[in-house]
Amino acid sequence: MTQKLSSAQLMEMESRYGAHNYHPLPVVLAKGKGAKVWDVEGKEYYDFLSAYSAVNQGHCHPKIIAAMNEQAQKLTLSSRAFYNDSLGVYEKFVTEYFGYDKVCPMNSGAEADETALKMARRWGVVKKGIPNDQVKIICCEGNFHGRTMTIISMSKDPDSYANYGPLAPGFIRIPYNDVDALQKALEAEGDKIAGFLVEPIQGEAGVYVPDEGYLKKCYDLCKKHNVLFIADEVQCGIARTGKMLACDHEGVRPDILILGKALSGGVYPISAALADDEIMLCIKPGEHGSTFGGNPIAARVAIAALEVIKEENLMERAEKLGEIFRTEIRNINSPMIELVRGKGLLNAVIIRPKDGKEAWDVCLKMRDLGVLAKPTHQHIIRFAPPLVISEEELRDAISIIKEAILSFE
Ligand SMILES: *Cc1c(COP(=O)(O)O)cnc(C)c1O
Repeated sequence: MTQKLSSAQLMEMESRYGAHNYHPLPVVLAKGKGAKVWDVEGKEYYDFLSAYSAVNQGHCHPKIIAAMNEQAQKLTLSSRAFYNDSLGVYEKFVTEYFGYDKVCPMNSGAEADETALKMARRWGVVKKGIPNDQVKIICCEGNFHGRTMTIISMSKDPDSYANYGPLAPGFIRIPYNDVDALQKALEAEGDKIAGFLVEPIQGEAGVYVPDEGYLKKCYDLCKKHNVLFIADEVQCGIARTGKMLACDHEGVRPDILILGKALSGGVYPISAALADDEIMLCIKPGEHGSTFGGNPIAARVAIAALEVIKEENLMERAEKLGEIFRTEIRNINSPMIELVRGKGLLNAVIIRPKDGKEAWDVCLKMRDLGVLAKPTHQHIIRFAPPLVISEEELRDAISIIKEAILSFE
């Protein structure tokens, strides 16, 4: 029996039965293909969120879906109590792909961040010799690393951390894009600091691209103080910004690399922390883990998703189409467009409110006209379509975005 529910009914059900921890744009999606999605009523949209850059390879990429379907018929989960015939294959593949000795497979981005924090702290204690109760990690203002208790303890956003009880200690928060602040923190207590955790581009904060040279200078400072440089590339990694990793723009190789989101092309929760033996092997059997981490489906899906990135030249596409996007949006003659910034196909437009109309209203208008995007914070709209979008589709979407913004004139 198939009962067809309307968008209104489905939204009502989520509100009635689901936790109220999100505020979605009112659109109910039922189908996706490439850069497009369709709602329950069959209306077509360009997806300019890509599930926060998880769907870099495009919705329901046939190669990734095939890999998932094939593995799902054979073995879905062995747990790590036993070996399986997919995990090792994936681990070899992904470590060669990104150039690290080892990978620790996880599921969500937050878990991979947690893994990186544990690895860095452990390394700090056993290799650097920091007393266990004094080990610290430096993080940045405006960070977003996920939603677990430890991770929200790094956040400066009260929406993230307030009224969740005592927070985890051991973090030093410094301004983002501020090399001097890092230098001061390292000079003050570098001997207690195990790692510096940074997003090479801050996604959730509103696509903040740091000054050129920032990452390299931070990396060099970390080396000077024997501190691990930890890059959270969950959102900006995997071809999104025009290179495989956002760190690649400055030739920086993180000591710990954190990946998620597009590691699966958006079909499955897959994340990873990568590092060399000196760091990774500080954690011994029984000291960290995940029931689903590195399961056979995840292993096969991640291989396919990473192959698609190279086979379809998604780095080059992101670079080229990103230029077009920023140029064309900057050409829109509207006082509502305050600033356009970004790298590759990770971009944001800052909206100057007009007659009480804000970014949210612009997003509703774009939805009506066939482009989906969502504000991050009050005045910022992130634009991050799947990297498989064609130039023709991109230009079509840009004309819709333009029409939406000009409708407020
Ligand atoms: C989304 C995101 C995370 C968290 O990933 P989840 O899968 O939602 O836990 C961590 N870091 C960054 C930079 C992100 O954008």
